[in-house]
Amino acid sequence: MDRRDFIRCSMLAAASGTVIGPQAMAQGTEKTKTDNQPSGAILNYNPQMQYRPMGRTGVNVSALGFGMLRLPMKNGHVDFEQTTPMVRRAIEGGVNYIDTGRVYMGGESEQAVGKALAGGWRDRVYVTSKSPWWEMQSADDFEKFFDQSRRTIGTDVIDFYHIHMIMHRGWRDKVLPYKLVEKMEKLKVQGKIRFMGFSFHDNLQLFKQVVEYTPAWDFCLIQHNYLDYEYEAGVLGPKYAAANGMGVAVMKPVRTGFLAHLPQTIKKALLSTGIQKPDTEWALDYLWDIPEVSVAVSGMGSMTDVEENLRYAAKARPNMLTPAEREALGAAIYAFRHIPGHIDCTGCYQCIPCPHNVAIGYIFAYVYNNYLAHRNMDKAISDYTISMSPVQRGDPASSCVACGKCLEKCPQHLDIPNLLKQVKETMGK
Ligand code: SF4
Ligand code: SF4
Repeated sequence: MDRRDFIRCSMLAAASGTVIGPQAMAQGTEKTKTDNQPSGAILNYNPQMQYRPMGRTGVNVSALGFGMLRLPMKNGHVDFEQTTPMVRRAIEGGVNYIDTGRVYMGGESEQAVGKALAGGWRDRVYVTSKSPWWEMQSADDFEKFFDQSRRTIGTDVIDFYHIHMIMHRGWRDKVLPYKLVEKMEKLKVQGKIRFMGFSFHDNLQLFKQVVEYTPAWDFCLIQHNYLDYEYEAGVLGPKYAAANGMGVAVMKPVRTGFLAHLPQTIKKALLSTGIQKPDTEWALDYLWDIPEVSVAVSGMGSMTDVEENLRYAAKARPNMLTPAEREALGAAIYAFRHIPGHIDCTGCYQCIPCPHNVAIGYIFAYVYNNYLAHRNMDKAISDYTISMSPVQRGDPASSCVACGKCLEKCPQHLDIPNLLKQVKETMGK
């Protein structure tokens, strides 16, 4: 299939409701209520920022959220002196959504939020945090962690509180037996949190199960970007959550840096359509185009990042992409998927859980395919190692015993055991 055919197929698939790339975003063209909201009702309103309803919460959030996960560092710690002006500049630019978590940056992210919002800035923004199930030794840790987060951030009420990183293992072993969802509901009734939600790293099937677990969910935080339209909850996740009244925040809009520093082959594909814009702007525009996405949470690490993201956010409207821009993104997906050696894994995670805990989709879609695109072995090994911690994605390719149990679950019909062998030979584990 050549590139034109691929793009044409993508558009046909979108028209028929099959998800295959950014063209699918053309579905759901209804306008959001954003334009009808009186600006006075919007927290920290700034005419240079776009605001969107956060599901049924009744609040509008800025299209750009400040992800406090990639903050500048100094001597092995968060550089608070640099961070505070960055956060405040973002707030001055209209950002009203500050996203942090108990475990972010070794616990220093919540401290950074507390410092940046001291002196009256807290009242201009919605503050989030997240409760990590994997750090809990007993159900009582939930309340303990929550109170610690409130103290560290310096706030009585956390506006958007998440169960952090729901995935099969955590859902089964901690979230359900510890009754964490019910504990969240109690915090909400007590007025200690305003809205309850979860961040998610697993497949669409579990995503739907979690969404359906309780009508009390207000929002979710998922990972999504234009290259990985089926990865984890994928492009259908926001639609499913929104259909259930939930607000949708999206994290990792630049795919942990990959889409901010595109390999030449993808850059060329985007340029071939005659449209020029910075790599990061493409990634954010793709998300803002999706009507169901309330806020793109961008991890900003410098004042330059803040200024650039604010500039991009000024025009962040639902259904903003032109047909030519959709074609350009289709060309980028095509180029990525046709890099020699590319494993045609969409990261849908239907193959997990593997009885030996191999992080199959993550290894193929993120580690190996990224390596093939950039040919940077040091970075690939580092990504691989960091992500194989016990609470993260699972175990490396070398843990595969070739039992074949995953084979029939893969909609791409990939020869998973042999491909894992190939990864092991390339990456050394
Ligand atoms: S073949 Fe390997 S990856 Fe697949 S289920 Fe068996 S051990 Fe897991
Ligand atoms: S290997 Fe197959 S089932 Fe597993 S994530 Fe990739 S495409 Fe999905």
